Amino acid sequence: MKISPVAIIGAGPAGLAAAIQIQRFGIAPLVFEMDTPGGLLRNANLVENYPGFPRGIAGIKLARLMEQQAASVGVHLTRSRVERLDWEDTAFRLDTAQDAFTVRRVIVATGTRPRTLNDITIPSSLAGRVAYEVFHLFDVKDAHIVIVGAGDAAFDYALNLVGRGNTVTILNRGDELKCLPLLWERTKAAPRIDYKPHTAVVALEPGADDGLVLRCISGRDNLSIQADYLLGAIGRQPRLEVVSPRVREQAASLERSALLYFIGDVKNGIYRQTSIAVGDGIRAAMQICQEYNHRDTEFTESSQ
Ligand SMILES: Cc1cc2nc3c(=O)[nH]c(=O)nc-3n(C[C@H](O)[C@H](O)[C@H](O)COP(=O)(O)OP(=O)(O)OC[C@H]3O[C@@H](n4cnc5c(N)ncnc54)[C@H](O)[C@@H]3O)c2cc1C
Repeated sequence: MKISPVAIIGAGPAGLAAAIQIQRFGIAPLVFEMDTPGGLLRNANLVENYPGFPRGIAGIKLARLMEQQAASVGVHLTRSRVERLDWEDTAFRLDTAQDAFTVRRVIVATGTRPRTLNDITIPSSLAGRVAYEVFHLFDVKDAHIVIVGAGDAAFDYALNLVGRGNTVTILNRGDELKCLPLLWERTKAAPRIDYKPHTAVVALEPGADDGLVLRCISGRDNLSIQADYLLGAIGRQPRLEVVSPRVREQAASLERSALLYFIGDVKNGIYRQTSIAVGDGIRAAMQICQEYNHRDTEFTESSQ
């Protein structure tokens, strides 16, 4: 069993900001990342509301800069998925597939997971043609991609994918646009983006050339769309499955005792923005550093 005073689960903007601040205080946090550092920010086409970048910055670039900054102050990332976070009376226990850790204070910065298209059956042969994160399609070019959704993410994804040489169709099952007006204006002006309101996908079938066919109801008509990929952008929900029932039950008291923190998108509801996630990370880190005491120092020696 390895021991540590602080662990951070997730190296998106929230987790990286917390890690940088804690490391600069002189404590080396354990930071776990199961995928690529930068988290959801890698999905963002152009971030224009994060201070410091007057011409905006691509999400993937900002994510890389955050990762580089963490490395430059000495943050070490453990590239593992935390399988479970539990509370064992005086300390947390974290389990990855390879190791177990005893930790005094934990920051949960696990972000969100996409909602999936549950109204249609996705044939197993098409699983590789259906995505929920745009960065999974960043290597795709000259393809026709259908996006389902009507929020910021759907329109941001569309602009990103046409910028990479693809053609995009956006399907909105209603007619309400839930995106920023400027994203709608840019989408209207962009080449190779078709927007279809009142259009719902009712079935998915294999199509020609390893592609897929979407059977849709569009208004009162049936419509078939041939595409190469389907990208779901129908909302997100907090990614909390790692937190054990015992931790959930005691979360309020653990948070009051400055032992447990939820930061960033995992707890921010509709206020899912990079600058808020980063601010949460800095605040949690500052609180941890203020609370750091003799009990924490008992957790500084790592052992097997
Ligand atoms: C299309 C799109 C455009 C956006 N545009 C903007 C914008 O213009 N401006 C803006 O401010 N924000 C934007 N955002 C929002 C921004 O990306 C998020 O608010 C931000 O990334 C949240 O950071 P986070 O660290 O809380 O969560 P995330 O970025 O989701 O990071 C969570 C991290 O935790 C990891 N993780 C999860 N579970 C585990 C586990 N069990 N073990 C180990 N690791 C785990 C994940 O792999 C991930 O890397 C956009 C988002 C999208 C989707």
